[in-house]
Order: sequence, then structure tokens, then C-alpha cells
Amino acid sequence: MLSNGVPESDPRPAPLSLPARSGPGYMNGANPEPASVLDGGLPPRKLNALRSEPKRILIVEDNELSLKLLKDILEFHGYTIISTNLGAAALDLAREHRPHLILLDIQLPDIPGTEAAGRLKADEQARAIPIVAVTAFAMSGDRAKILDSGCDDYVSKPIHILDFLALVERYTKGAATHAEALAGS
Ligand code: MN
Repeated sequence: MLSNGVPESDPRPAPLSLPARSGPGYMNGANPEPASVLDGGLPPRKLNALRSEPKRILIVEDNELSLKLLKDILEFHGYTIISTNLGAAALDLAREHRPHLILLDIQLPDIPGTEAAGRLKADEQARAIPIVAVTAFAMSGDRAKILDSGCDDYVSKPIHILDFLALVERYTKGAATHAEALAGS
């Protein structure tokens, strides 16, 4: 018994106590700060829009049909697409749009995709962005050369759509925050 006569086991919460960590005021049930603080007091609708912000993918591809195919598949699955047919434009676009993933054709009209990959990986802001080479090359030596150039992965055309989507999801999941953190956002 306390001096005011209330038993210590009184289940009523103290008037000024914080909500339980798993309560609606907390994100993910594990965050030490109330959501309203973390989210800058944004209303729920705006908050949801931010949380479901589409992942951005930069496609570097000079073949119009290949570009259209990749773009259609990825946009249908909720990705936002930025594209160029020039390898030399990849770095500027990557720095401007901060894509979560770059899909890179190797045979391009200006510079080889391997050269574009090298430039991207030499750039402090862009190097954290994963690069997946998308190419028709089939020889094993080309694969090694492509990976040596800085590409993180490799898919051969014609692409298998479900495998391709799984690969894209793997590279865009979580990689975003890492890349954005490195880019200083
Ligand atoms: Mn090409």
C-alpha cells in the first residue's frame, strides 16, 4: 500500500505515462520515439504515400523494343522508370535521380556498358547503386568482364520475367536507404 491508499499493483496507467511501445503511437512497435515525432507530424495519408514511394530504376538501353519491354514490366509492378539510350548519360542521371537500381545494356551506341559501369562505380554518390547488366552476350568470358567492370549482377536476354522481377526486387529492397545514406540525403 502507498501512502495515498492506492495499492501498488493498481493496473490503471499513470496519467502521464507514455503509450505502450506496441501501441498506435509507435512505428513498428520497436521505435523509442512516437511516430508523430519521427514523421514530422504528417497526416496518415501523406505518411502512407511517403512509405509507399515507388522505387526508381534507371534503364540504360538503346534497343527501343527491349526498353519498352523492361519499362512496361517494371512500371506495371509499381517501379518508376528513368531511361536513356546512352551510356555516357548514365552517371548524370544516376546523380540527379538517385535510382535504387540501374539496369545496364552492354552494347550501347556511344560507350560500352562496361565503361559506363566503371564511371558509375568511380563516383562517390553513384557507387552504392547496384548495377545489373542486361545483355545478350552469352560467352563466359564476357560475364567475367562485365562483373569486373563494376556490375553487381548479370541477366541474359531474353529475360525470364519472374526471375527478373525477383532479381529487381532483391536489389531494390533495402539497398535504397543505403544508397541514399551514402548520397547524403
Ligand atoms: Mn544495346
